[in-house]
Amino acid sequence: MNKKIEILLKDIGYKGFKKKNYMKENSKVLLHTCCAPCASGVILKLKYHYKTEVISYFYNPNIYPEKEYKRRYRELLKLSEFFDFKVMEGEYNPEFWFKKTEKLKDEPEGGRRCYICYSLRLLKTAQKAKELNIPYFTTTLTVSPHMNHKIINRIGKTLEKKTGVKFVEENFKKENGYLYSVRISKKLNIYRQHYCGCLYSIPSDISDKSEDL
Ligand code: SF4
Repeated sequence: MNKKIEILLKDIGYKGFKKKNYMKENSKVLLHTCCAPCASGVILKLKYHYKTEVISYFYNPNIYPEKEYKRRYRELLKLSEFFDFKVMEGEYNPEFWFKKTEKLKDEPEGGRRCYICYSLRLLKTAQKAKELNIPYFTTTLTVSPHMNHKIINRIGKTLEKKTGVKFVEENFKKENGYLYSVRISKKLNIYRQHYCGCLYSIPSDISDKSEDL
């Protein structure tokens, strides 16, 4: 661990994690990454506690508009430079995402539209891990207190059966995972968005101010 990371960990009050590693030593994981702030808490656990090689996979066709998508991707690159991990960008195909979810556009956040949204992104991640011969996949989604980790983990386990790639079942918000992510974002000046990502999740007070998007 280099000096700048040591200083950051001290500044955020990092106390480590208690949970034991359930992945094989020196393994590799493809981490579906929704955004840089969520990734920061997960990187601490996977890279520094579990000593796993992390490859971040930015596959998020749900993010709207494209300007916001690009901004979140840029912030992730900034984080990857600091923590030294690799980032791969998936295809940005919002038309596909809209087609799959448009019938559920009026669902509340956390409802059935979100289940489809999680599934689409995790399926692509599992497929990519298989293609690259990476033994594990997981997601940053469970860092957020707004996300239902039980549903996300259930989807991950179903995809594990389907693809043969092992899913790392986690609730990354626990053991201060969410708190660390907030503190790291502040320290590194990383943009933290005000809505989940899709068009339907944009609060009206933001969509009224078009310059914010
Ligand atoms: S609210 Fe978030 S998880 Fe739900 S559909 Fe929109 S982007 Fe996906």
